[in-house]
Amino acid sequence: MRPFQYSKARALSDATQLASDASTMLIAGGTNLIDLMKLQVETPGTLADINSIGLREIEETGDGGLRLGALSTNTETAVHPRVRSDYPVLARAILAGATQQLRNKATNGGNLCQRTRCTYFTKPDQPCNKRDPGSGCGAIGGVAKLHAVLGASDQCIATYPGDMAVALSALDALVEIYSPDGSNRTVPVRDFHCLPGETPWRDNVLEAGEVITAVTLPPAVGGTQLYRKVRERSSYAFALVSIAALIKIEGGCFTRADLAFGGLAHKPWHDPRIAEALIGQAPSDELFDLAADILLENAQGHGDNDFKIPLARRTLHAVLSQAVEEAA
Ligand SMILES: Cc1cc2nc3c(=O)[nH]c(=O)nc-3n(C[C@H](O)[C@H](O)[C@H](O)COP(=O)(O)OP(=O)(O)OC[C@H]3O[C@@H](n4cnc5c(N)ncnc54)[C@H](O)[C@@H]3O)c2cc1C
Ligand code: SF4
Repeated sequence: MRPFQYSKARALSDATQLASDASTMLIAGGTNLIDLMKLQVETPGTLADINSIGLREIEETGDGGLRLGALSTNTETAVHPRVRSDYPVLARAILAGATQQLRNKATNGGNLCQRTRCTYFTKPDQPCNKRDPGSGCGAIGGVAKLHAVLGASDQCIATYPGDMAVALSALDALVEIYSPDGSNRTVPVRDFHCLPGETPWRDNVLEAGEVITAVTLPPAVGGTQLYRKVRERSSYAFALVSIAALIKIEGGCFTRADLAFGGLAHKPWHDPRIAEALIGQAPSDELFDLAADILLENAQGHGDNDFKIPLARRTLHAVLSQAVEEAA
């Protein structure tokens, strides 16, 4: 690890001021950032510790939703009574990630900003447009088992590795962001992460010096809420494919079908056409096939990860079938 300065932010304004310096990085739980510093993938001149600026509350919003402080830990969030009762898809997604020790340190803001697990990205001697713009992409034509089948570009085929954001995308949650000029802005989770395009180094829409302050959940949504994560081991592994689902069936037909997918793209994948196809229809294998056709219309494998395309189809069938069974 390279030497770095350490600075403790005492207030939100300190944090934004410190982070406005391009060589400074914010540190929350440190469970992703410190690993990347040890590998010399991240080499900040200064670490600005934001653990003393508050933002730990989980509180009701005026409209009956829930505001999750950016510095609440993943554990505090997953075990919160309102999360467990009204947003079980979120609790399940968080608990499907990492380990208990990691979740005790990992924060909600840090979780949203975690970086890809592409092995070329984590090895500074390998070409990687995300780590070293213009150096090429080792994964294209290389080892690409974990990589994207949707929304990739010829610059980068990495996936976003997190679980929590997939559930937040299905829930249509909002990310609250505080900017260095003192203003606040709100971005839907569905628009927070970026596709690689021509700027693969850009993971999300945060601008220099901006700090995530909270994630806001809509009022309780009800329905059947599922999170299914397919991985190589039953724990301590990132998703090959994951699906967060909020399903309602009334009068024998889908009346709600909010689905988001992990492991398939550079961001949690949400395609509104899937809900449009399902809503108003009675469940059937043919309908589930149609939903999978829509999801995978433009899917493209890269050899090693071709298996993700049929796996996503089968997982979607399984999730929809389970939701129908539970809703009955
Ligand atoms: C072995 C292992 C297995 C894991 N398995 C999973 C898994 O299965 N599923 C999963 O989802 N995750 C998994 N993780 C990732 C883990 O969830 C993340 O490391 C963690 O959530 C990051 O949170 P943190 O608070 O520690 O972030 P940090 O490491 O402190 O920060 C991560 C990034 O976020 C930025 N940041 C932090 N807080 C803010 C903020 N408020 N505003 C703006 N930027 C901010 C930092 O500057 C940094 O760039 C795993 C991690 C490890 C080490
Ligand atoms: S897939 Fe993206 S992160 Fe991985 S080597 Fe290519 S450019 Fe880097």
